[in-house]
Amino acid sequence: MKHRRGIDLTASFGPSDYREHESQQYETLKSLHEWEVLGAKCGKCGRVSWLDKRVIEREFGNQYLMNLRRKLRCVCGNKEGNTVLIGKLPR
Ligand SMILES: [Zn+2]
Repeated sequence: MKHRRGIDLTASFGPSDYREHESQQYETLKSLHEWEVLGAKCGKCGRVSWLDKRVIEREFGNQYLMNLRRKLRCVCGNKEGNTVLIGKLPR
């Protein structure tokens, strides 16, 4: 996933385990735990990308996770119907 200005938001590592964020959940970027990784799944090609939370926060501020979906664009060019993923890093 890339920022609309072309900044690469991808983290250099991926978690082993993850869940899909429900759009009814009012979680914000800052409510994520240290060991949780933010990711996104493309609604079109199904590609999963893991994001660097610090870069997201710097670029977008402390957002509701549900609002991030529309700000992310997949490498395939799609930004519709993306799913936010929350991954867990081994502690
Ligand atoms: Zn895609």
